[in-house]
Amino acid sequence: MRLIDTHAHIYTEEFDNDRQDMLTRCEDEGVDKIFMPNVDHTSVDRMMEVELKHPNRCHPMMGLHPCSVKKDFEKELYAVEQWLAKRKFSAIGEMGTDLHWDKTFWEQQKEAFTIQVNWAKKYNLPIVIHSRDSVAETIELLEPLLDTKLTGVFHCYSGDLDQANKIIAMGFKLGIGGVATFKNGGLDKVLPDIDIEHLVLETDSPYLAPVPHRGKRNEPAYLSLVTQKVAEIKKMTYLEIQDATTTNALNFFRNI
Ligand SMILES: [Zn+2]
Repeated sequence: MRLIDTHAHIYTEEFDNDRQDMLTRCEDEGVDKIFMPNVDHTSVDRMMEVELKHPNRCHPMMGLHPCSVKKDFEKELYAVEQWLAKRKFSAIGEMGTDLHWDKTFWEQQKEAFTIQVNWAKKYNLPIVIHSRDSVAETIELLEPLLDTKLTGVFHCYSGDLDQANKIIAMGFKLGIGGVATFKNGGLDKVLPDIDIEHLVLETDSPYLAPVPHRGKRNEPAYLSLVTQKVAEIKKMTYLEIQDATTTNALNFFRNI
């Protein structure tokens, strides 16, 4: 079994000059599949192009990122809806909330969240949730929308243990990435008490590169550094982390 990067924006222009080499490096590091979160209408074509070139390896999701929820968000959501009706995707994502950058469109963010959760139910897809500086608010938004089938992941998890337990109790997973390697990332206080069955791994490339590449461009090959760190924190072997998180990821995504 090999590793799976459950969240990487490898279609962005940061990789235009060396995308093939980047994918070769990631294969050398044992990273097999890569799941690509959409952002908004400007990212779709690029994402589909990567899928077309690597159909069994790079799988697209479809959704509207909370940082792209602006005045025209209904137009953006309409485009997502059209895509969902047209073909199959592995998940709805990335969607969610963000209180870090801009709070102007908070009401619209909440509306876009609910609409996308309802599409996840309609198409029986998991949701991939962004919750930067808004983990508590997102849990609160999600709770009344839960049913027996809805699943998802809090991607790039950086909340506390209490919040992690709430998320797990809802049947959701935690996406663990480069933050696990950061000195003050806080995950060393969360992960020891979380069963591995609730975790999936991700890079969030090209963002949030793990140590020792922190601050530079991230790429899926660095998932091995995240795996190593999670193994250290949880006092498990690299292979145990790899096998468990890959199994979790394969059970999580659809249409792959
Ligand atoms: Zn992302």
